[in-house]
Amino acid sequence: ELAHAERFMAVVKANAYGHGLPEIVTAALAAQVDGFAVATLDEGVWLRHFGVTLPIYILGVTPANQANILAEQQLTAIVPSLNWLNEALAALTVAQKLPVSIGVDTGMGRIGIRDEAELLATVQTLQAAVDKVDFQAIGMHFATADGAGTDQAYFEKQMARWHALVDPLDLPATVIKHQANSASALWHDQVIAHDMVRVGAGMYGFDASSGVLEARATQPVLSLKAELVHVKQVAAGESISYGATYTTTEPTWIGTVPVGYADGYARLLQGADVLLPDGQRAPIIGRVTMDQLLIALPTEYPVGTVITLIGRVGQEEITLVDLADRLATIPYEVATGLSPRLPRRIVN
Ligand SMILES: *Cc1c(COP(=O)(O)O)cnc(C)c1O
Repeated sequence: ELAHAERFMAVVKANAYGHGLPEIVTAALAAQVDGFAVATLDEGVWLRHFGVTLPIYILGVTPANQANILAEQQLTAIVPSLNWLNEALAALTVAQKLPVSIGVDTGMGRIGIRDEAELLATVQTLQAAVDKVDFQAIGMHFATADGAGTDQAYFEKQMARWHALVDPLDLPATVIKHQANSASALWHDQVIAHDMVRVGAGMYGFDASSGVLEARATQPVLSLKAELVHVKQVAAGESISYGATYTTTEPTWIGTVPVGYADGYARLLQGADVLLPDGQRAPIIGRVTMDQLLIALPTEYPVGTVITLIGRVGQEEITLVDLADRLATIPYEVATGLSPRLPRRIVN
């Protein structure tokens, strides 16, 4: 589905959704993406320092008084309002042009222009300032593309507002129109603008709809693994970890895994399973601590045994969606919560 788009923009905000920015950017460059999107100016500057020369969009609002940095680094800023544009133009003193993409709010209600007259004035201001700005694109964001059923109506409402606001502008073909995130690109292919898609979840291979919509042929690229650092057998009636919330009822082999909530493995995941190298599941017993957690082993396993907290072993799999379901949240939050302390490694 995604292949229909003319340009693929890899969304790598928030440390590439917790996957690790340098690793993902390197892989995305090798896969010949057409550009990157981040949330903040700092993230954009980081990418330039890393050596990225492709277009980089900043999806959040950058303070207008940072216009010179945006222009010098050639980072494409979202224009969220006519006021912002006027302030940015006033602040701009460098020779480079300021690259911009107009943000249109069709119902996400977050950032962007909602008003027809303001939108027209913004376009006219940009066209009058061709020597100072590089008017690259105009975009919007869907609020419900990853939902099912009644949300289709809201999706269509946003689409209708887009056409009502943008079609009369009669923009030159050089201005890229972009609408779709992963969910819209994967599930609403027939109606989206195909100039460019902005893809995060779909690139990382987790289900943006958390199982609500029909599965797509994507593979999760992230696994979280750790080696057992300590293994022991304790007698029946022994308590494990803070608060003594878990007490053994029989002699039990216990493994210590050096991952905790400071790594982004939430404390509320007490009771979740991990996978052993033979694909067997082992439960997390007792409280997850800041840096370590405990698992009940079916038998003795050696120190150094690889434990899979997220990922696949044989036919068994623990996904970001599984953990998100346990935590009553979405896989995005679990992934972006994985802390920088965890070493990232690209495998095969
Ligand atoms: C985060 C974000 C995306 C990427 O969304 P996915 O669901 O991960 O594909 C696209 N566009 C905007 C404006 C975003 O904020």
